[in-house]
Amino acid sequence: MIIGVPKEIKNHEYRVGLVTSSVRELTLLGHQVLVETQAGAGIGLSDADYENAGAEIISDAKEVFTRSEMIVKVKEPQAAERSALREGQILFTYLHLAPDFQQTKSLIDSKAICIAYETVTDTLGKLPLLAPMSEVAGRMSIQAAAQTLENSYGGRGLLLSGVPGVEPANIVILGGGVVGSNAARMAVGMRADVTLLDNNIDTLRQLDREFRGAVKLRYATREAIAQLVPRADAIIGAVLIPGAAAPKLITAEHVRQMKPGSALIDVAIDQGGCFETSHPTTHAQPTYIMDNIVHYCVANMPGAVARTSAFALNNATLPYVTKIANLGYKKALLDDEGFLSGMNIMHGKVTCKEVATTFDLHY
Ligand code: NAD
Repeated sequence: MIIGVPKEIKNHEYRVGLVTSSVRELTLLGHQVLVETQAGAGIGLSDADYENAGAEIISDAKEVFTRSEMIVKVKEPQAAERSALREGQILFTYLHLAPDFQQTKSLIDSKAICIAYETVTDTLGKLPLLAPMSEVAGRMSIQAAAQTLENSYGGRGLLLSGVPGVEPANIVILGGGVVGSNAARMAVGMRADVTLLDNNIDTLRQLDREFRGAVKLRYATREAIAQLVPRADAIIGAVLIPGAAAPKLITAEHVRQMKPGSALIDVAIDQGGCFETSHPTTHAQPTYIMDNIVHYCVANMPGAVARTSAFALNNATLPYVTKIANLGYKKALLDDEGFLSGMNIMHGKVTCKEVATTFDLHY
């Protein structure tokens, strides 16, 4: 199969659909990979690196789209990219169609085969192509907490670990899924005093087996949250109710009870946030102070560590890319129900129930 990798054109997006190690795997299997010049420049992968991996470097995005049977990207296609798609061409990338009618409409009009990373499921019903970005964001949330607690960010001037004779920072993590468990691993590694809450008892049992007392685990009732908030130096928001806005577990009143200079890191901000005082921020200006509390609410945290994120994403997407390239999309998707749930739009028809329902489209 001929696989095309255009350079991402969304503002501040440095990741790339296929890193060099993925290109090498695909070319060794006999596939042809066309990579737009400079596609990996933002994460230290040069055109020469791609050529060594077996790719053909193409100087112009348009040619990548014209010659490829499948386009592999990271971000949802921008207007210029959507207009370059053609009937029957496969597009495999994050799409996030539900909030975006314009994109949905033009992908329908393109008659391309549009498979979205974020709706592919595994045998447990989990989301294997979203998990790597949650791992990155979860781990990063503790780096963000460490920074925001420094005086220069308006924080309380705390070192997460403390030192012998001075107590460590108190970190509360709301949600023990992929983000929350990764945050807990980092926080324990940095020797903070860590409490994690979840409202799923099985999740707490599983974390108990892993952490063996190194993390205090609490069932997430309102009472437990109210007790923990005034003592916390940093709270990490990592809850998710699939398909719904994040619940506002920390109210404005809670925030007023926190110690001045404490930190709120709202990883769930991409789902509206789980703190009442949160609003989205960017990497250019990641924090703001409200009610004396430093808020960090960056909606695309993995974008700041684009190289790690691109390789992590590729580790998850490569088996799927390979399957489509080897078998063709029909056999690859019909063989695997979870992969089939990634199909969002096909030959001008919406095939994802949630997207169809959102826009009242025929499904
Ligand atoms: P997940 O499904 O793996 O985990 C969510 C956890 O929240 C589950 O364990 C669930 O039981 C728990 N939960 C749900 N409601 C709760 C409640 N009321 N109280 C306590 N716990 C509750 O999801 P995830 O992959 O860890 O993602 C968490 C959030 O982080 C999502 O909103 C996701 O979109 C977001 N995220 C943001 C970024 C970013 O850059 N900001 C990156 C990746 C993920």
